Amino acid sequence: MMRLYADLKNRLLGRLTCAETLVLLQQYLDGELSAEDAKAVALHLDHCTMCDEESAIYREIKISIAKASGTADQSIIKRLEAFGERVGNGEIVD
Ligand SMILES: [Zn+2]
Repeated sequence: MMRLYADLKNRLLGRLTCAETLVLLQQYLDGELSAEDAKAVALHLDHCTMCDEESAIYREIKISIAKASGTADQSIIKRLEAFGERVGNGEIVD
């Protein structure tokens, strides 16, 4: 129920929901989004600690991959998988 409320609130404010943000997050960090989409993601990250932390994890992975050429830190991958599961189960609220 909290999840629905948070998503409704985001909709009313013209913001992305957490799910929408997570879908766009990788492209956002890769600089592949349109200016409009990138702005919407940035706005959501400003207001959502959960997604902001998630974007930090993605950034760590990108840095880790760049450093180790293909092998990301296992603990980071585990965190990411756990987060993905929680989102899938509708447990994430903001
Ligand atoms: Zn969020």
